[in-house]
This record gives sequence, C-alpha cells and structure tokens, in this order.
Amino acid sequence: MYYFCISTLVLFTCCIMKTITIIGAGIGGLTTALALEQKGFQVVIYEQAKTIKPMGAGIMLASNAMKVYQNLGIDVQLILNANPLYSMNITDKNLNAFSKIDLQYFKHTYNLQSISIHRGKLQEILLQNLKTTEIHLHHTLDSLTKEIDGYTLQFQNGQQIKSSIILAADGIYSNVRNVLFPNSKLRSMKQVCWRGVANFTLPKTYQNELNEAWGNGDRFAFVQLHENQMYWYAVKSFTQHKDEFSTEDLSSYFSSYASIVQEIITTTPSQNIHETVIEDLQPISSWHDEFACLIGDAAHATTPNMGQGACQAIEDALVIANCLKECDTTEEAFRKYQKQRKATAHKVVKQSWHIGKISHWKHPVATFLRNGLLQIFPQKLNRIQLEKLFQLQKTPA
Ligand SMILES: Cc1cc2nc3c(=O)[nH]c(=O)nc-3n(C[C@H](O)[C@H](O)[C@H](O)COP(=O)(O)OP(=O)(O)OC[C@H]3O[C@@H](n4cnc5c(N)ncnc54)[C@H](O)[C@@H]3O)c2cc1C
Repeated sequence: MYYFCISTLVLFTCCIMKTITIIGAGIGGLTTALALEQKGFQVVIYEQAKTIKPMGAGIMLASNAMKVYQNLGIDVQLILNANPLYSMNITDKNLNAFSKIDLQYFKHTYNLQSISIHRGKLQEILLQNLKTTEIHLHHTLDSLTKEIDGYTLQFQNGQQIKSSIILAADGIYSNVRNVLFPNSKLRSMKQVCWRGVANFTLPKTYQNELNEAWGNGDRFAFVQLHENQMYWYAVKSFTQHKDEFSTEDLSSYFSSYASIVQEIITTTPSQNIHETVIEDLQPISSWHDEFACLIGDAAHATTPNMGQGACQAIEDALVIANCLKECDTTEEAFRKYQKQRKATAHKVVKQSWHIGKISHWKHPVATFLRNGLLQIFPQKLNRIQLEKLFQLQKTPA
C-alpha cells in the first residue's frame, strides 16, 4: 500500500513537473496555455509567425466557448471588448429572417453571453493573461523524430528541442498530424469565402444580431464587432477553382441582395478583405500517440458554417488541461481527452458540412422549400439541439 501511494505520487509529480510543449499560438494554443498555466504547469509555445498578428477578421464565440472563458476568469474582459449577440438569424437575400436562434435564452438561463469580437482583440486578451508561458516566435516546426522517451522537434531556424508532452495546436494544415497520421485528408467544400472588417455602424436593429442571408449558391453575413467596426463574410460556390471569382467583382456577385450588403462591401478597403477556400479535415479516429496530441483544428478542423471551429478548440483547451492534471500518465490523459471530446467535435464537423451544402442549394424550387421548412422548424428545437451540443444543464432551483 505504502509502495503504491509513493509510486502514484511520483508519477503524478512527474506529470506536473514536466514542461508542456505547444506548437502554434492561435486561439487553441493560447487558450490551452492559459488553462495549463492556471493548473500549475510550465508551458512553452513555438509559433511560426514572427509576430502574433491574426487575420483582420471577426469571430463569434458561442455559449460553449464563453463557458470555458468563464472558468478561466476572462469572460468579463472579453465581453467588455466585444459586442454582445442576442440572436443568430438565417434570412433570405432581403434580410427577412426564416430561422432565429435566441441567444438571450442562454444568457438568462446559464449566464453565458455570446459575443462577436475582433480576432486580434481575442488574441491580445489571451496573451495579456498569460503570466509564465514562454512564447518562441519565428519557430516553424519542420520535423519530428520519435525517441523512446519523447520526440525531437526540429525547427526551420535550426533549433532543436526534446519534449515528451507535445500539444499540436498548429491548425488545419498541422505538420504534427501529418507525421502522426499521414493518411489524414482535407476536404474542399468548393466554396470560396471572403472576410472583411470595415469601419461601419450597422442600423440599430442589426447591432446585436448575426444575420446570414442565403441566396442561390451563395450567402452573405454581417455582424457588429465594436463601435463603428463590423465584420462580414461572403461565400460563393465554385465548380473547379476559386479563381472563377475575384475580389474586385465581389459587389456584383451580391447585387441581388439587400442594399446594405452593397454598402458594406464598398465601404471595406480592399486590403481588409481576405479570401479563403472552405475546407475541413475528414474525421480521423485517433488524435494522439503516447507523447503527442492534436488539439483544435489540427484534430478536427471544421467548415465555418456553424461558427464552431474556434469554440471547439477552446473546449479542447480546458478538457486537455483537466485531463493532464487529473491523470497519472500523459498517455492516459490524452486518451481521456479524446474520449471526452471526439464525439462532439466530429458531430460539429459533420453537421457543419451538411449546413454548408444546404445553404448553397441553387435550384429555386429547392431553395423555396428549404426556406419554408426552416421557417416552420420550431425555434425551441434549435435551442434544445444547441443545449445538447454545448452540454449545458440547468441547475435545479
Ligand atoms: C471563414 C471562417 C470563419 C470562421 N468563423 C468562426 C467563428 O465565427 N467562430 C468560431 O468558433 N470559429 C470560426 N472559424 C474557425 C476558426 O477560425 C478555427 O477553428 C480556429 O482558428 C482554430 O484555432 P487553432 O488554434 O486550432 O488553429 P489556428 O487558428 O489555425 O492556429 C494555428 C497556429 O499554429 C501556427 N502554426 C502552423 N503551423 C506551424 C508550424 N509548423 N510551426 C509552428 N507554428 C505553426 C500558425 O501560425 C497559427 O498561429 C472560422 C473559420 C473560417 C475559415
């Protein structure tokens, strides 16, 4: 018994004392570092960029992400630097809503305020709250070599380190995943997405809403981020290659939409518009080996149709930190994390893929039926589905 207690304590202490290596200082990597720091771990992040300068775009953080940030004690700071969202609407081209999700319900029932925030602000707040984490910029991970007790990591700048606890938060094109699971595959939705941030104040009715207008093979969404700052995205299906469309002609692609859409596009300086092809990671069955574990987009990159990619990465962050704290060995912690997170993250990948397809139907009869069906789908069911996905439970009075 005495021997058992001592060896458990030794294993536990080893797990706590080891430095944890994170690859990637995106939303997933930074949130994980914060969660680990708060549990007493020493963390080192290696990031390829020379400065932490996120793309000029906004992001929506739903109740599940805000629940994590509440746990980490930064929810109030985020809310003060963001715009509170009261509802998420799907509309026709003229902004007549045919589906609404009442986000105030989540605020009133669970005290979780959904927000829209500039990505730069979110990363700035995460960085401000990191106290002991070391961040090494300009460190692009080039290769990993497996040893008996961990991996040797080789960076493009010539630096080499050894680590036995590696968390790969290196995004959808993850180098670590390509080494661990070389058969993993990315899937293109054949949709091109433009994102922009503009100095613009939306009319009062739209200020606390995300409105996503669906057309025929395209959609346009907009949301206020802060006073006189808004974020929008536009998506269009292509047949072979994204170059079938160009940013210069963006306003003509959306000329049949409500006039505010034109106003938003023309107010946005072209250097503030970023183009991306929408893709995801075909779900993979395992996210780890004994020394390295994938988190965020590296593990389960999803299409952005549910606005859940970063929210899922944020959920991963707290779960992996809890598992590393609670488990005696790293591998046990990775297994427990995967067990807790995989089903939900993959559900999001799957549902989001389907929503992306349905939202781009082109045939007028199909779109008419789709819009009609969404209109009669009870709001309450949308809400119940989200409560399940976010694993929110009402506390008995
Ligand atoms: C159009 C669009 C809209 C979206 N909107 C939303 C939304 O509203 N809400 C939401 O929750 N999600 C949204 N998402 C998804 C969200 O952006 C991602 O899921 C989220 O950024 C993933 O975070 P991450 O930290 O896992 O990866 P990333 O943000 O990709 O970060 C990876 C980091 O790793 C670094 N890196 C990569 N390779 C290396 C290497 N070899 N060595 C060192 N460093 C490396 C990168 O530089 C980067 O800093 C959207 C996505 C898209 C495409």
